[in-house]
Amino acid sequence: MVRIIAVANQKGGVGKTTTAVNLAAALASMKRRVLLVDMDPQGNATMGCGVDKHTIEHSSCDLLLSDIPFAACLQRVAEPAPGFDLLPSNADLTAAEVGLIGSADRERRLAKILATVVDDYELIIIDCPPSLNMLTLNALVAAHGVLIPIQCEYYALEGLSALIDTIAQVRESRNSGLQIEGILRTMHDPRNNLANQVSTQLVTHFTDQVYRTIIPRNVRLAEAPSHGLSVLLYDPVSKGAVSYLALASEVLRRNHKRHPVS
Ligand code: ATP
Ligand code: MG
Repeated sequence: MVRIIAVANQKGGVGKTTTAVNLAAALASMKRRVLLVDMDPQGNATMGCGVDKHTIEHSSCDLLLSDIPFAACLQRVAEPAPGFDLLPSNADLTAAEVGLIGSADRERRLAKILATVVDDYELIIIDCPPSLNMLTLNALVAAHGVLIPIQCEYYALEGLSALIDTIAQVRESRNSGLQIEGILRTMHDPRNNLANQVSTQLVTHFTDQVYRTIIPRNVRLAEAPSHGLSVLLYDPVSKGAVSYLALASEVLRRNHKRHPVS
């Protein structure tokens, strides 16, 4: 059974894209059938997978606004073997956001598109833009769970409550099954006292919704996208690579607990 996970936080630069790309790559390396959906007009996940956002023929924008076949938009990311599928994006997606506003099923477009391919994948990871806009709403309506990357700093918790309110609203009106997939501490520096305090607060408040895996601040994670590679290929023994493999295992374990037979 497919699990659709939206990686979302309206706060910018908290590690959404780094998490989406490296989680997709880590799951692929564990031989899972994975689709990575880039729902951000910045196209960072697309570039991070080594696909040039300027030269793609069809993007997630075309899928959202037209009846183009899903397969026509897909790119294959070959490594780590056996690879994974990418639905790429670029600045055209900004137009899609505007275009969607006039359409009747504007919040459900992505959900309807993904419903046609659920049998082809075990995990679908959606990288969201840094705002609670129509694109993020499409991801939240399509998803089973929201993975929330959090950088443990002073304002992090404030932003988190706005996101949790939005998730509650989506649950009430549009997607009753939407869960918090997990809260992920990113860019963590254990020498930073404030980061440790915020991290402890998160666990006190959200208990086992917080992933045990903590993503450390690791320069290899920041370098990998400029080579168009996941960290698993760029530096497989780095702390960054090891932490995203651990996250992938934890995501799979939680999924297995929910659906023990699948
Ligand atoms: P946006 O909101 O703009 O989409 P984002 O939430 O997707 O941003 P990323 O692009 O993943 O955030 O990360 C922001 C920056 O921090 C990037 O330059 C990325 O390479 C770097 N970065 C992310 N995670 C780590 C980490 N664990 N260690 C070091 N650098 C990191
Ligand atoms: Mg991003």
